Amino acid sequence: MGEGNKVISDNNFLKDILRKDFFENTDYKGVRIHTRFPPEPNGYLHIGHAKAICIDFSLAQEYNGICNLRMDDTNPGKEEKEYVSSIKEDVRWLGFSWEGGLCYASDYFDFMYDFAVSLIKRGFAYVCNMTQEEVKANRGDTKTPAKSFYRDRPAEESLDLFARMRSGEFPDGAMTVRAKIDLSSGNFNMRDPVIYRICHKSHHRTGDRWCIYPMYDYAHPIEDALEGITHSFCTLEFEDHRPLYNWVVDHMENLTIKPKQIEFARLNVTGMVMSKRKLKKLVDLKLVDGWDDPRMPTICGLRRRGFTPSSIRNFCEKIGVSKVASTVDYKFLEHCLRNDLNLHANRVMAIIDPVNLIITNYPDNKIEELLIENNPNNVSCGNRKVKFSKNLYMERSDFLKESKKGYHRLFPGGKVRLKGAYVVECIGYDLDEDEKVTTVYATYDPETKGGNTREGEKIKGTIHWVEKESAIDATVKIYENLFLADIIPDDFEEVLNPNSLKVVSGCKLEESLASAKIGENFQFMRQGYFCLDNKDSREGSLVFNRSVALKDSYKG
Ligand code: ATP
Ligand code: MG
Repeated sequence: MGEGNKVISDNNFLKDILRKDFFENTDYKGVRIHTRFPPEPNGYLHIGHAKAICIDFSLAQEYNGICNLRMDDTNPGKEEKEYVSSIKEDVRWLGFSWEGGLCYASDYFDFMYDFAVSLIKRGFAYVCNMTQEEVKANRGDTKTPAKSFYRDRPAEESLDLFARMRSGEFPDGAMTVRAKIDLSSGNFNMRDPVIYRICHKSHHRTGDRWCIYPMYDYAHPIEDALEGITHSFCTLEFEDHRPLYNWVVDHMENLTIKPKQIEFARLNVTGMVMSKRKLKKLVDLKLVDGWDDPRMPTICGLRRRGFTPSSIRNFCEKIGVSKVASTVDYKFLEHCLRNDLNLHANRVMAIIDPVNLIITNYPDNKIEELLIENNPNNVSCGNRKVKFSKNLYMERSDFLKESKKGYHRLFPGGKVRLKGAYVVECIGYDLDEDEKVTTVYATYDPETKGGNTREGEKIKGTIHWVEKESAIDATVKIYENLFLADIIPDDFEEVLNPNSLKVVSGCKLEESLASAKIGENFQFMRQGYFCLDNKDSREGSLVFNRSVALKDSYKG
């Protein structure tokens, strides 16, 4: 990204903290701001992660710091290599790079083990044989301290058991390692939390080397500290875990700088589920066409839908960062996309529901090439040549057998401008046996080339068209929200929108779209913004996704 391209706007509390540390706090003298984005590779990234990515990467960038991409892979069984590569692809696509390096929590398993041993030796941790149920039953309440039956076990005994946990002697759940903190703490996370558990599962990187794995609250501060992270941004649900985070950091030795955890509110968007677990369920139940289904809030889904990286970064900047949870209207995300595409997408002509349009007074074998501008809002997009002949297609909805008040498109006796071509007058039409229009007949006025009008003549309507002989066939997919509710209940299947995907085949597109490329955005004039589907398109049978309709219903 270029200089001065600020993704996160100036007024937010995270920047206040960074500014203070960077410019005033002597602890940070000579230290570069260092952040990290730490996804768990157990699913694909979604628009909520995009907010975290923008915060982690762009704040570091702005203060001349560094940001690591870290796979937080301490949960074997759920994590897969496929997710790791998709995460890298998505972060890169959003426009960020990890000059801090690509890190894996699993690279620190040895350290984490050794550190747990050191905690036990120093009397700060112990092996506990209580079952999960026993721990739960003995957790106490705000007035009663928790009970832990093994906390006074001699360190020697704990060390021996911990080594045997590691060597695979015990089944899952048989024992845990717990930090010895405070059984009467008002913060239940501090009531001797579990820091290691037994889990006989293969890990995507370490294979079967380990059968014990560190818990998130123990692992995360260690990961941050080892990587030299100065500011560890995370979402609000970790606020109550911060004392534990600090406890772990405080018990580490020889740290030049202690990382600090700072929480912000997570992003919610109306009509979208934003948890990998739920998104995975949608995929597993085949309610969508994979993680990259264009209706999904995943980064790869949004990409396939036609969202641009800058529209997403822009969205993340505009929604801001705060400590107060809120839900952003999906229409605002669409609004950000529209603003971007309005400037950058070429206008083209595409007929979604074609009927024939025959220009009866146009020479039979003549083909003209008309020069049409690509984007009236951005001259730098240039012009293109579009073929015109006697035989065209027009949109079914641009014709009425009888006119009505306020109607400015084609009807018998009515005139309309064909975009960039001529003014035509309708002189008749054909119907099939179902009374459906098959062909519209019109005459053209050669004096109106380029869409000009004769002096004194007023033509209110302009419609798009496509030349028949050169037209290409395509299928178009029109999407609506996946859900019919703004806030999605846990049983999300109940609010699934049965009409969220409409597939329209037999569309006729102007010739230039034959060379459309993946990742290119177009405005199908008067219809919406579209892009080539990166999965279902084949040469000779193109599929276009509607990214967003033209009409902006966002009321900002
Ligand atoms: P999910 O519930 O979707 O699985 P998660 O928080 O478990 O989300 P992680 O892979 O652990 O997913 O998240 C990586 C980072 O992204 C974390 O720092 C997390 O706080 C942040 N993040 C996740 N979801 C959101 C969201 N909706 N808004 C902002 N940040 C988010
Ligand atoms: Mg998580």
